[in-house]
Amino acid sequence: MSYDNNLSVKQEMDRFMKGLVRRNPCEDEFHQAVHEVATTIIPYVHDKPLYRKARILERMTEPDRIISFRVCWEDDDGNVRVNRGYRVQCNNAIGPYKGGLRFHHEVNLSTLKFLSFEQTFKNSLTGLPMGGAKGGSDFNPKGKSDHEVMRFCQAFMTLLSSHIGADVDIPAGDIGVGAREIGYLFGQHKRLTNEFTGVLTGKGLEYGGSLVRQEATGYGAVYFLEDMLKEKGEGLEGKTAVISGSGNVATFAAKKLMALGARVVTLSDSSGYIYDPDGLNPEKLNYILALKTVRRGRISEYAEEYNVKFFPGKRPWEVACDVAMPCATQNEINKQEAEALVANGCIAVSEGANMPTEEDAIGVFQRAGVMFAPSKAANAGGVAVSGLEMSQNSARISWTEDELNKQLREIMAKIHDRCVEHGREGEYIDYVKGANIAGFIKVADAMLAYGVV
Ligand code: NDP
Repeated sequence: MSYDNNLSVKQEMDRFMKGLVRRNPCEDEFHQAVHEVATTIIPYVHDKPLYRKARILERMTEPDRIISFRVCWEDDDGNVRVNRGYRVQCNNAIGPYKGGLRFHHEVNLSTLKFLSFEQTFKNSLTGLPMGGAKGGSDFNPKGKSDHEVMRFCQAFMTLLSSHIGADVDIPAGDIGVGAREIGYLFGQHKRLTNEFTGVLTGKGLEYGGSLVRQEATGYGAVYFLEDMLKEKGEGLEGKTAVISGSGNVATFAAKKLMALGARVVTLSDSSGYIYDPDGLNPEKLNYILALKTVRRGRISEYAEEYNVKFFPGKRPWEVACDVAMPCATQNEINKQEAEALVANGCIAVSEGANMPTEEDAIGVFQRAGVMFAPSKAANAGGVAVSGLEMSQNSARISWTEDELNKQLREIMAKIHDRCVEHGREGEYIDYVKGANIAGFIKVADAMLAYGVV
C-alpha cells in the first residue's frame, strides 16, 4: 500500500494495526507491545512526513532477522531431548544487537518478538550505542540437574554462536538464565571460536564481568521510582512496597528499597506470594537469595521459615501499599488488580519486569493519576550496565563499584529526564508516552540517515 498523507490519526492507527496483526497472526504479546507503542508514536509522527514516508514504524516492527533452530541434548538418563532455540535480531540502527536470553517453558516467537521490540526502545533510552534483540528457548531449567543445564547450554550455544559476536549481537541473561547459565554459554562459545571476547554480558567477575551488573536492573527500577516520587516532592522513606517475583530483579529491587527506607512486605514466585507485614530485612533477603540461587526452592519455604502467610496461586496486588514493583513476568497485573492497587492507596508503580501491566490496567493507573513507569524506561538499568560491561571488555579495563554505581544512577536520572521532556501533560507526566517518543527518535533518525536499507 502506498503512503497516504490524508489519513486521520485513528485511520492510520487502524490501518497500521490491521496490517501488523495480518502479518503476525496469533502473536498476542507482540500485538500488545506494538499497540502500546503505536498509540503514542502514530499521533507523534502524524505531522512529520519524513518519518511517515520512510515507513519508520513499519520497519521497526519487522525484525531485521529471526533465527530459529533445533536444540538436541541428552538428559541424565540418556534420553534424547529436543527444544527450540531462537534469536530475534530486531534492529541494529544505533549499535550491535543487544538483549537477553530467556529459558522458560512458555517461550515462543510472540514473546521474543515483543521483548526484542521493547528492547530496541529501551536500549535507545539508555543513551548507549546498542540495538535491540532477544532470544531464548522453551527449555525449562526447573528440576534439571547442573549437568543437564550445562549440556543444554552447550547445545544451544553451538547453534547460536555463528549468529553473535562482540560487534554483531551480544546476548545476556533473562528469566531462567542467570550466572550459572551465562558461564556455560560463554565457556562453549570460547571453545567453539577459540576467542575470548565480550560476546555475552552478565559474565562472572573472574572472566570479564562487571561489578554492579547483577544489581543493576532492580536498583535502576528503584532509582526511577525515586525520581518519579521526587518530581512530586515525595521520597521512599517510610513507604510500604509490594513486589512480585523473587529472582534477580525482584531481590535487588527489594534490597535498594530497604536501603532507601521503604518497607518491603511481599515477594512471589509462580506458585504464589508471601506477605511479611514486618517487612524484609538483610537477613531475610540473604535467605531468599540462597533459596532461589543455590537451593532453587519455592517461595513458600520463606513463609515456613519466618512464620508469615503464604498465598498459593495468588499475586500480591491485593495487599495495601504506597508503591508497587512488578518484577516477575509479562501481563501479571490486570485491570481488576490495578483497580485494587489504586483503591488501597498505591501512588506509584515501577515496572521491573518487561510489560508486566496489561494495557487496560495501565489506563486505570493513568486515569487515577498514579505515577507509572513503563518497563522500557524503568528496567533499563540492567542493559545499561551491560553496555558498560561491553565498554570495559573492549578497553580491557575494570571500573570500580563506586564508579559503576555512579554511572548507573546518572543514566537512570537521564532516562527519567527524557521521559519527562516528552511525556509532560500539564501536572501529570505520561511516562509511557515520554519513553516511547524519546526511545523512538534516536532509532528513527539513524534509520533515516541510512536511506532505504
Ligand atoms: P529470574 O529468572 O531471576 O526470576 C523470575 C521470577 O519471576 C521468579 O521469581 C519466577 O518464579 C517468576 N516468574 C517467572 N515466570 C512467572 C510466571 N509465569 N508467573 C509468575 N511468576 C513468574 O528472572 P529476572 O529477575 O531476571 O527477570 C524478571 C523480569 O525482569 C522478566 O520480565 C525479565 O524480562 C525482566 N528483566 C530482567 C533483566 C535482568 O537484568 N535480569 C533486565 C530487564 C528486564 P519461578 O521461579 O516460580 O518461575
